[in-house]
Amino acid sequence: MLPTEVLEIAQAELTDWQGSGMSVMEVSHRGKAFVACAAHAEATLRSLMSIPDNYKVLFLQGGASGQFAAIPMNLTGPGDTVAYLNTGQWSAKAIKSAKTQDLAVEVLADEKDSNYSTVPAAGSYTVPVSAAYLHYTANETIGGVEFDYVPETDVPLVSDYSSTILSRPVDISKYGLIYAGAQKNLGPSGLAVVIVREDLTGKARSTTPDIWDYAAMAASDSMLNTPPTFSLYLLGLVLDWVERTGGLAAMGKRNKAKADSLYTTIDNSEFYANPVALNARSWMNIPFTLADPSLDADFLKEAEAQGLTNLAGHRSVGGMRASIYNAMTQDGVDALISFMADFANRRG
Ligand SMILES: *Cc1c(COP(=O)(O)O)cnc(C)c1O
Repeated sequence: MLPTEVLEIAQAELTDWQGSGMSVMEVSHRGKAFVACAAHAEATLRSLMSIPDNYKVLFLQGGASGQFAAIPMNLTGPGDTVAYLNTGQWSAKAIKSAKTQDLAVEVLADEKDSNYSTVPAAGSYTVPVSAAYLHYTANETIGGVEFDYVPETDVPLVSDYSSTILSRPVDISKYGLIYAGAQKNLGPSGLAVVIVREDLTGKARSTTPDIWDYAAMAASDSMLNTPPTFSLYLLGLVLDWVERTGGLAAMGKRNKAKADSLYTTIDNSEFYANPVALNARSWMNIPFTLADPSLDADFLKEAEAQGLTNLAGHRSVGGMRASIYNAMTQDGVDALISFMADFANRRG
């Protein structure tokens, strides 16, 4: 979901961006105006997230999935040990990708016994000192499972923040690298953001293509080739909106209140259930099931008729999932809550 306000700005300037007489998609990415637009997005992200100066911000293509491969290409040599925590489907994909790259992949914790409804407790796993990094998925988008702590480790900490970046403040200095596909909380698809500590760049395997090499991309301000210009432009508008609405501290308060109100509704009902451990509940993605799954189709149909859309759970798990990203308002969540209460009254 994107803020309507942002879409309206984009709409208003679509055919004449900054007096150019054309859209932002038609100007040269090497021109002064677009270079400034990209620099503005980076500066705003740095300021919003308090990114320390010794970190590079990269705007890359290939989505978060591209980073599943690019991270080991950049941070390891053949035969190295890497460590992963497996809390669900996105962790599993990251692990699978690392396994293609001649690495000793150690999965230090795998939450399969809870059907991926938990995060491993802090201190319940030991990170090998020889590991090139420890990777975890800060928020499992499909399972709605989110870490409630930042793992402590002496090796570089790497995290997939695709579905939780910008949802609240985060201490970047605890990480070696965080990355995120843009399409959940940052803007449209087509862009991945990588925030990487400078000393971890410049060590890519010699076989790494330039466009996947962090050092090469950093040296060219992420413009070694043509960037996804519209996505970058819209990212800048979204970041301006986050700033206008009070930054990440205010965003975190709103997101916590939104999530709390929906979890309370689910927990107080006999008709709805959320399977995730209390300490691992996501602020962004809230899966829930109906006591009688044969009513799922009716629930979705009636919800849609009221403008409550995209509530079907991921095709791999079924049930329902409310993704309440930054742009979702408390009013939107309240509309879902009253629909849920009404549906349970009539059909429960
Ligand atoms: C959506 C998502 C991805 C995949 O993102 P793409 O940009 O489609 O590659 C990876 N990790 C998480 C946590 C996600 O939510």
